[in-house]
Amino acid sequence: MILVVDDRPENLLPLRKILEQHGFLVDTALSGEEALKKSLQNDYSLVILDVQMPGMDGFEVAEALRGYSKTNHIPVIFLSAIKVEKKFISKGYSSGGIDYVTKPIDNDIFLLKVRNLYQLSTQTKQLIETKKHLEKEVEIRRNTEFRLKEALTELQSTLESLPQLAFISNEIGVLEYVNSKWKEYAPDERSFPDFDPEHSELLKKWNEAIKSGTQVHFEVKLKRQNENVFRWHLLKAVPVKENDTIIKWVGTFTDIEEQKRVETRKDEFLSIASHELKTPLTSLKAYFQLIQRSVNDQFPATIKTYITKTSEQLDKLNMLIADLLDISRIQNGKIFLKKEQFDFPELLFNVIETIREVNPDWDIEYNGPDHATVVADKERIEQVLQNYLSNAIKYSPAIKKISLSASINEDNTELKMSVRDYGIGIPKDKQPFIFDKFYRVEDDSIRFQGMGIGLFISAEIIKRHGGTYGVESEPGNGSTFYFTLPM
Ligand code: ADP
Repeated sequence: MILVVDDRPENLLPLRKILEQHGFLVDTALSGEEALKKSLQNDYSLVILDVQMPGMDGFEVAEALRGYSKTNHIPVIFLSAIKVEKKFISKGYSSGGIDYVTKPIDNDIFLLKVRNLYQLSTQTKQLIETKKHLEKEVEIRRNTEFRLKEALTELQSTLESLPQLAFISNEIGVLEYVNSKWKEYAPDERSFPDFDPEHSELLKKWNEAIKSGTQVHFEVKLKRQNENVFRWHLLKAVPVKENDTIIKWVGTFTDIEEQKRVETRKDEFLSIASHELKTPLTSLKAYFQLIQRSVNDQFPATIKTYITKTSEQLDKLNMLIADLLDISRIQNGKIFLKKEQFDFPELLFNVIETIREVNPDWDIEYNGPDHATVVADKERIEQVLQNYLSNAIKYSPAIKKISLSASINEDNTELKMSVRDYGIGIPKDKQPFIFDKFYRVEDDSIRFQGMGIGLFISAEIIKRHGGTYGVESEPGNGSTFYFTLPM
């Protein structure tokens, strides 16, 4: 809006008209004092001031406008009826005025000047707004930086108090902070701790994690500076994100030497125990077969039932011991494959048949090729299928249905087998550990019996074949376990 100031209403009227005709909003004032008051109340883009007015003259008004931050950027056009003397012009400019028009007014020149100054005013306003906006932004940034610094200091104090080796790195893995425990193990503050040369994979894993932005979980042997004994540590590092972008990594190495020792002792015990159990069990089975052969029609039905039940339990025991023996074989790197060429679906149908014999009320459907030749250890692959299928049955107490599917990739190099059940499913945070040795999802040990080794053995068998394995699952919606085999 433009404010036109003149002490004579008859002068104001034509000015207002011409300005309004050209699309400007116009306000008027009849004295310098009124003009000043209005300027402080309203938001004008231009003030047109008659120079000669009783009371405050135009120059005084302009000077007063320069004195207030609200009005000091408003451009001014002076109107003067008197012959313009140089001293008046300089007076006008020194009080902050921007242009000058003499009366009688030449409308074209007047409008040109109004337009120019009006535009200038709009641009000045925009500049002021932008400046304000920038200042606000700088302030916000300064505050955020301050808060981040505070949070970082707090995090560093927390890490300093940990018994673990702890670090903070930037987004590309350059160490920015290490705690004093770290310094006992690393040659300097910019380096990783000294690790067993056999575990050189550590740096590879760390770099892979940085590239993919996923957590690291890696066991490695570290040693203190000036010491020669390596101890097992677990590296855990997580990315810290801001607006979905990784800005830092925070991680620790935890000493797990004791855990490892206990684990080794447990493994040794299991290995010895399963070997020791195997021998009497083999004799037991042999004698039991003799008993079975001696059973004839004269035996009471109850004895026959007992014999069948004993046979079933002996088979279960045999399988448990076989699994335990497999574990010690895996530990000692002694799982050897006897590869042969065979038809995969045929093997699968046999496994389904055996499962159906014991679970006749289950609906097991299959989608996939009728024939597909693979070269693999048939018995071991059968073991994997049996494990996947029996888990699908065990962990789906309500819906008795399994969907199996097999497919071969486009270039005929890989076979993928999936077993989908409609059971209890597995929480997301537990899925990464499901193929670990002795791992069982909590809570279910009462409802579902097991030792948590079937999937570990299956995974090992698939790995030895050069295949991959995994699970997709949602609690309450069932699970799909899969494995692939190179063809
Ligand atoms: P086990 O079944 O003897 O405990 P596994 O190694 O076969 O051992 O499985 C490990 C764990 O994975 C199980 O304890 C169970 O918690 C979970 N699991 C395996 N298969 C399924 C499945 N189909 N649905 C839900 N959970 C499963």
